[in-house]
Amino acid sequence: MNDDCIFCKIIKKDLPAKIVFEDKEFIVFCDKNPIAKLHLLLVTRTHIESLQNISNNDSEWLGRMISIIPKLAIDNGCKDGFRIVSNAGINSGQEVPHLHFHILGGRDLHRKML
Ligand code: 5GP
Ligand code: ZN
Repeated sequence: MNDDCIFCKIIKKDLPAKIVFEDKEFIVFCDKNPIAKLHLLLVTRTHIESLQNISNNDSEWLGRMISIIPKLAIDNGCKDGFRIVSNAGINSGQEVPHLHFHILGGRDLHRKML
């Protein structure tokens, strides 16, 4: 946990968010500024800054993190496709330095990247 981190505050329920899923490892909530009809944030409960901090030792939980995405997309109305984005580090423009995947879906996903 990082006291200055917005996502850690959401995990601790110190900040409100529309939570659609949570288990002991991950939490999923709606982005406050959605750029698609569906815009979820899949977030680790542990404060890890980004994919820049991931190594081979993380493959098991990272596999579990990715494997919950298809059901999340379907349960939230995106059975016909979705896009995953994870900004990592300064050159990506990462705004919140706590590892997360954007799950984007809906009929009008543009070809451009996030
Ligand atoms: P990043 O640039 O780090 O990949 O994206 C961070 C995302 O977090 C942005 O899409 C932004 O709208 C979202 N966000 C930032 N602060 C909050 C917040 O307090 N609540 C929620 N639900 N989303 C947030
Ligand atoms: Zn955090």
